[in-house]
Amino acid sequence: MSRGRKLVLATHNVHKQKEMNSLLDHMGITILGLDEYPQIGDIDETGTTLIENSFIKARTVFQITGLPTLADDTGLEVDALDGAPGVYSARYAGENPTFQDNVNKLLGDLEGLRDEERTARFRTVISFVDGTRELHAEGVVEGIISLDSRGADGFGYDPVFLPEGYGLTFAEMSQAEKNKISHRGRALIKMKKLLEPYLKKGVDIG
Ligand code: IMP
Repeated sequence: MSRGRKLVLATHNVHKQKEMNSLLDHMGITILGLDEYPQIGDIDETGTTLIENSFIKARTVFQITGLPTLADDTGLEVDALDGAPGVYSARYAGENPTFQDNVNKLLGDLEGLRDEERTARFRTVISFVDGTRELHAEGVVEGIISLDSRGADGFGYDPVFLPEGYGLTFAEMSQAEKNKISHRGRALIKMKKLLEPYLKKGVDIG
C-alpha cells in the first residue's frame, strides 16, 4: 500500500471518529485515528473561524505524521445569542467544561424563549491537507434548541438540537440517522467529492 492510501483523522473525539469512519467506509483507504499517535496531544485552536481552526488541526497532524489528514471544526450558532457560541462552542461554559456544562449553560441562556426564538444551526468545516494540496468543505444543518435535554446517544450539544423537520434530537437518533442529515455528514460528502479525482485507482492522495 502506498502512503497515500492511508488517511489520518485529526481528532481525539471518539464520537467524531466513529461518525467519520462510517462515512468514509468503502473508499479503499485505511483510516487512522489519533489514538495511533499518542505523542499528539490536544491541539490549541487559536483561530477565530472554523476554517482557521480546522486547518490548524489538519496541518499540525500532517506535519507530525507525514500522512494525508482530515480535520473538522464545528460550531453551534444560536440566533438569539447573535451566533454564539459559534467557533467557541467547546469552551462555552468556561475552560475545560463537560458536554453537560455547555448544555446547561445554553439551556439557561435561552430560558423563557419560545420555539420560534430558539433557532440555531450546526456548521462544520472539514479540511484536508497532504503537503501538496489543501481542500475544505462546509456542512450546515438548521434546527432549534429544545427546551430540555433528550436522548442518550451522540455527544456535545446533540441532546438539545432538534434538526428542522424532525421530532427527535440528534441524541435520540441512531448514528446512521444523524449522519444522513448532519452538518458533519454533509461536509464529509462534499469532501469525498473533492477527493474523488485523487482516489481513483492508481492515483496517490498523499
Ligand atoms: P470542536 O469541533 O470539537 O471544536 O467542537 C466544538 C463544540 O461543539 C464541542 O463542544 C463539541 O462537543 C460540539 N460538537 C461538535 N460536533 C458536534 C455534533 O455533531 N453534535 C453536538 N455537538 C457537537
